[in-house]
Amino acid sequence: MEYKKSVMFPEEVDSCECKSSWKFKQKSENKTDVEKKRTSSAEAPVKLPPPCNTLKRKLSSDDEGRMLEGPCKLQKRVRVNNGDQDSVYVDPSDLDCSLCMRLLYEPVTTPCGHTYCLKCLERCLDHNSKCPLCKEDLCEYLAVRKFCKTGLMEDLIAKYFPEELKERKMVYEEEIAELSNLNTNVPIFVCTMAYPTVPCPLHIFEPCYRLMIRRCMETGTKQFGMCIGDSVKGFADYGCMLEIRNVEFFADGRSVVDSIGKRRFKVIRHSQRDGYNTADIEYVEDDKVSPGRTLRRDLLVLHDSVYDQAYTWFSTLKPALKGRILSHFGSMPAKETDLQVNPNGPAWCWWILAVLPLESRAQLPFLAMTSLKDRLTSIRRLDVLTSQ
Ligand SMILES: [Zn+2]
Ligand SMILES: [Zn+2]
Repeated sequence: MEYKKSVMFPEEVDSCECKSSWKFKQKSENKTDVEKKRTSSAEAPVKLPPPCNTLKRKLSSDDEGRMLEGPCKLQKRVRVNNGDQDSVYVDPSDLDCSLCMRLLYEPVTTPCGHTYCLKCLERCLDHNSKCPLCKEDLCEYLAVRKFCKTGLMEDLIAKYFPEELKERKMVYEEEIAELSNLNTNVPIFVCTMAYPTVPCPLHIFEPCYRLMIRRCMETGTKQFGMCIGDSVKGFADYGCMLEIRNVEFFADGRSVVDSIGKRRFKVIRHSQRDGYNTADIEYVEDDKVSPGRTLRRDLLVLHDSVYDQAYTWFSTLKPALKGRILSHFGSMPAKETDLQVNPNGPAWCWWILAVLPLESRAQLPFLAMTSLKDRLTSIRRLDVLTSQ
């Protein structure tokens, strides 16, 4: 039990305990079976060397050197030529990561000498800066963030278990493809209100969000959804995608993420993955105004008048407050010549909504609006602008 506790990803305790327990049970059963076979089976002339010696020995190259025992891949062993002496066997499960119980993928070795898949180790270090197996303090190792791959281990796996490696790589690539989907199971950060085109700096310290941000970077999407919390559903039905522009890591694993708002979305289905929220989403865009001249002219007049109202409000703020807004959100975007060129409408609307002192609940309906006219009318009616 102690071993199991030490290697579980803590965020999975609630959701995946059964699965993890099963994995560990299975692993120990496999080991036990292998041990039994190695000591009692008459048909497998196996000599058990210390694990380190097993890897140092050279494999024979002929076909007889490979032995497949039954259909289970865990039982496949490669015969190792031990000079003219007895033969020994390397089982692919000997090269399993003790965190995910799968063949080591992108193996990294800690200063204390334990080897894990890179992604598995990073996930453990999100929670605790100690080696998952021996509990050695890895603070300095984490601070440097230089997780060099263990080339020798990679070469050995590639040379002696190419099929298993191919399969492992396929699983990894499938996971990456799944994590890259920006419609289904999209990662959701439940924190604050975010708007298209508006910068959103974030301080990341919770382990689940460390994992989420790292995955966004690894997959290359560099995007995740931002929603405000909802006491019933967990998070609101509308949100805004954020694109990561830069991530700055601190020595202890925390980070500051510089992100900016992109598209708006509607949540179709709430779900979870590895401790953080996810959602199936549909993107929200403004409806195009029909090409009638009068309608377009009316919209332009409304637009200009609300812009002036917003501009006046901002220019009459006290210099200190104005300075804080400018340093956080940048300056107020200028009017756009074509109001409908952007599916989110003019950027200044989102900027003013972000800087106005409004409750999140009052801001939320704006994300759902698909009519620029409605958005402009609603901004014009906001108390904070009408009372100036
Ligand atoms: Zn692993
Ligand atoms: Zn260790």
